[in-house]
Amino acid sequence: MRLVPAPAGSGVVFRRSDLDDYEIPATGRNVAKVSYATSLMRQGVLISTTEHLLSALIGLGVDNVIVEIDNLEVPILDGSSLPYVEAILNAGIKRQRRKREYLRILREIEVRDGSKFIGVYPFAEAQAGEGYSIHYSIDFPEPIGRDTFIGDLEAGDYANLIAPARTFGFKEDEAMLRDMGLIRGVSDASAIILTRSTETLAGRVQNGPLRFPDEFVRHKVLDLIGDLALAGRRIWGRVVAERAGHAMHTALVQRLLQDRSAWELAHRYEETAEPVGGAATVAESLQPSHA
Ligand SMILES: [Zn+2]
Repeated sequence: MRLVPAPAGSGVVFRRSDLDDYEIPATGRNVAKVSYATSLMRQGVLISTTEHLLSALIGLGVDNVIVEIDNLEVPILDGSSLPYVEAILNAGIKRQRRKREYLRILREIEVRDGSKFIGVYPFAEAQAGEGYSIHYSIDFPEPIGRDTFIGDLEAGDYANLIAPARTFGFKEDEAMLRDMGLIRGVSDASAIILTRSTETLAGRVQNGPLRFPDEFVRHKVLDLIGDLALAGRRIWGRVVAERAGHAMHTALVQRLLQDRSAWELAHRYEETAEPVGGAATVAESLQPSHA
């Protein structure tokens, strides 16, 4: 897989180098099946497991890039987005001469499915260090249990706080997931593996230590950022998620894209006098790199 610079306004586009450079833009229009990972499909051509790479791109403020890939699966690597973040930072990020366009939320959109919930809400006022806030609550079987993470991508430090958080799964589900073809290549090196608690045995992390005490909920935030990237532009709003997952995340994107009255395209900051530089002109592209 290779990341290639792209002109301002192109967005994130996957390019299957094994299929005559067939292109699949990373937008909600192209969301295919969603279960334990998010997949894109266009005219029968698939790209699977897009969420961790897209999360890294949004987290670092990369708006425009071509992702060249010679097969259908974006590499899982260590199960987090840290390897992507490191590769991108090593290659360098270039500021482009165009202001970033945000998808600014004007009124709430909510999706509920039983006890699962996700909603996005407007900010009353644009303030420094606010712009894309996330409030995520999880409730998994022990030993994960309940947890909540609250942060703001504009103010926060994605590379340190979110990127290292790895995906996770219960050992008991492994055979079933493998049968479904969902965790091809998942191993101790690419996910946190847990055992469930039983009446006599406390469940535990098999391949510790964790990178954060709350690594599980941080990974859900990582996934959410990657899935909401499919809105095509960075969100300017507040996101609240409870027990959600890829299906709920992408359902919210689709609802958003369908409801044109719920958002507008907007610039985050006033134009400055300078043609380039400052926070006003951010819409970044990349130098080529290998990941
Ligand atoms: Zn994930």
